[in-house]
Amino acid sequence: MTDVGLLIVGAGPTGLGAAWRLTASGETNWLLCEAAADAGGLAGSVVDDHGFTWDLGGHVQFSHYDYFDDLMDDLLGSDGWLHHQRESWVWVRERFVPYPFQLNLHRLPEMERAACVRGLITAAVASAACASAPDSFGQWIEAAFGPGIGDVFLQPYNVKVWAYPLEELSWSWIGDRVALVDLPRVVENIRLDRDDVSWGPNNQFRFPIRGGTGSIWLALATRLIDAAPERMQFGRRLIRVDTAAREATFADGSRVSYDRLLTTIPLDTLVAATDLAPSLARAAGDLRFSSTHVIGIGVHGSAPPHLTDKCWMYFPENDCPFYRVTHFSHYSPNNVPDITRHWSLMAEVSESPAKPVDAGSVVAETIDGLINTGLIQGRSAVHHAWHRRLPHGYPTPSRGRDRALTVIMPALEARGVYSRGRFGAWKYEVSNQDHSFAQGVECIDHLRSGAPETTLRQPEVVNARRSQSRAVAGR
Ligand SMILES: Cc1cc2nc3c(=O)[nH]c(=O)nc-3n(C[C@H](O)[C@H](O)[C@H](O)COP(=O)(O)OP(=O)(O)OC[C@H]3O[C@@H](n4cnc5c(N)ncnc54)[C@H](O)[C@@H]3O)c2cc1C
Repeated sequence: MTDVGLLIVGAGPTGLGAAWRLTASGETNWLLCEAAADAGGLAGSVVDDHGFTWDLGGHVQFSHYDYFDDLMDDLLGSDGWLHHQRESWVWVRERFVPYPFQLNLHRLPEMERAACVRGLITAAVASAACASAPDSFGQWIEAAFGPGIGDVFLQPYNVKVWAYPLEELSWSWIGDRVALVDLPRVVENIRLDRDDVSWGPNNQFRFPIRGGTGSIWLALATRLIDAAPERMQFGRRLIRVDTAAREATFADGSRVSYDRLLTTIPLDTLVAATDLAPSLARAAGDLRFSSTHVIGIGVHGSAPPHLTDKCWMYFPENDCPFYRVTHFSHYSPNNVPDITRHWSLMAEVSESPAKPVDAGSVVAETIDGLINTGLIQGRSAVHHAWHRRLPHGYPTPSRGRDRALTVIMPALEARGVYSRGRFGAWKYEVSNQDHSFAQGVECIDHLRSGAPETTLRQPEVVNARRSQSRAVAGR
């Protein structure tokens, strides 16, 4: 049996962040074990049999941390990135409306436009009268935007993203993620019939020139492996944790004895694998999540002119199964083998017990949806399709989540188990790559010196630092 001070499980951004911090401070008494053959986790990328590169869902680099930005610069170098304007659009009533939706109502048919404006006024009046705080995310949408924008866009879109009724979701996670309403500006834009878009010089994002988002994390893992190959172990799946004995067992039968365990595997899976399962099962059962189908479509020819500069698009209506499509060959021409002959789109479809998906037909339905929404011209345009289901896609900010976490996390930490990251901490509001990486770094600092874990404990503080969110709600 191996003996270590700190055992890290998972080589996604969180586990790599922890390992990076330890390496930078010269610590050697640790070991990282990852089930997969490579690093990256949900932020990894795949090259399919046709040579097309796909991310596991549309990934864009946000950052709330200089430490993260500096590492990104360093990992791929200044010439390793492409820079883009963040153009996002909403497909509704058979047309594209630029995001932020509420600032571009002039693009809507007259009836919907009037309903949206009426709703915004109703919401503003209710807010001035200090209406009571909403109970759920559904109520929050109604309170912030009124019924018009809720009906046309936000309610159907968010049901599609989250795959749960909005009454079951809380709204505490929202923070800066949803652009709120500036009523005079809304009205003025309608009067002048002008677009008011979210892109511009301050709304850029960067993407790796080669290898997709996963190339970032492979580059970081390579550095860690070069520094200490024996401490970075792949192909090792954790199956059992004896928190009393502080011992981890892996699928190959090997065991590691640890002083402390930093795990980034989904929290529900972790709880089930521990000796604490009987006492924590009920709380863990209150954690909700959705799965994500990622469907990559390689397309013949070149992107039509109306799509050339679009980065991603939101789809609230039921003319397609997906909630979002990313124009992935726009992110980098190297995401397809030959940009003079092909281009690519990547669609995401959510699934949950409340919203089942037939994995056997979702690709065909996605292609139909791309045709219905004018993104491709017909089936003959499709070069090939690639499909991956992510069992854990979104950690749902359900109304029972925080209560469950306040039972589970202290019980684990009392036994030296620190669960961090997108599904480790189960906090959607701090579950992007930068947050996850920071959770790993901050956990190490906390274990070494007692420093506060701001990302985990105070998401609102971190998210207020710099607003680089692109989502209307649900990312
Ligand atoms: C559809 C989608 C879109 C997204 N879009 C964005 C975006 O635009 N911008 C952004 O910044 N982020 C985005 N993200 C989030 C990003 O992917 C996560 O922030 C990041 O991957 C979380 O890192 P992590 O290390 O916490 O978890 P993960 O990436 O899930 O890594 C966990 C690791 O643990 C390993 N593991 C699991 N079980 C075991 C086991 N039993 N034993 C050993 N190892 C195990 C896994 O193989 C994995 O490598 C998106 C995610 C999804 C799903």
